Formats: sequence, C-alpha cells, structure tokens
Amino acid sequence: MDCDERIRNTLSHEMCHLATWVIDDKINEHHGKFFKTWASRVMKIHPDIDVSIKHNYEISYPFEWECQLCSKVYGRFSKSIRPDECFCGACKTGVLIPLFPTKQSAHAVQNSSEPKDKISSSESDSDLEDVAVKFLTKALTSTSIVD
Ligand SMILES: [Zn+2]
Ligand SMILES: [Zn+2]
Repeated sequence: MDCDERIRNTLSHEMCHLATWVIDDKINEHHGKFFKTWASRVMKIHPDIDVSIKHNYEISYPFEWECQLCSKVYGRFSKSIRPDECFCGACKTGVLIPLFPTKQSAHAVQNSSEPKDKISSSESDSDLEDVAVKFLTKALTSTSIVD
C-alpha cells in the first residue's frame, strides 16, 4: 500500500466516524452498524478505497494497551496506564497488556531517557506560558497606547 492510498483510506475511515456522529447523531458509535453502513457506502462509490475497521487505520498512539479479555485497545501519548492498577473500562475485569516494549525488555534505554523527557516537556510548557504572557502583555500595552 502506498502512502497516498493509506492517507485516503485513513481519511475515509475518519469521515465515516464523523458521519455517524454528525449525521446519524450516534455519538457513542465506534465501529458498529452505523459506521459500517457509511463504510460500505464509501466503498460502493469508490471501490479503490478500503474503509477498514482495523486499528491500524486509527490515529496511532505511541503507547497502546490491549485488554486481555475483550481486545479493546487503549492508546495514550504517555505511559499513563498502569496495568497493575487499572482494568479495562469496557469489560471491567480484563487486564491491560502493554503493546510496546516494557521496562523488562528495554530497561537501560528507558531508565536513561525517561527523566530527561519529563524535565524537557515541563520546561517547554513554562516557556510557552512565558511567551503567551509576554504576547498578552504586549497586546494589552499597545492597545492602551493606541487608545
Ligand atoms: Zn475507527
Ligand atoms: Zn476488556
């Protein structure tokens, strides 16, 4: 599958979600019958588009966990889910299995990179705040000068 094709399929997939939420007004719909109706409509009009319900067409998160029982996949941008403390929200009992290399398998790499990541992300947050405050101050000051 080439890149354009993948983007087209992914966009079509997301548009089908949008259609179920906006047109069908099914805000809790995921890949159910309303989604599949839209998917089949798209594929009928554009046979070259494949609106798959597979997870690899979803926006992918760097960290994913899969429920051992119902196979629901949870994605996060950080390792915020602790499998030893959390259970699957859908079936309430399933244990969440990390789909990324865990500390046991990538011990050295994670130990050296994790604290640095946290420091740099909090620094950039306050930098952004700084910029925002300066921008607002400048905007307010220049307004009062004009007035
Ligand atoms: Zn989807
Ligand atoms: Zn589950």
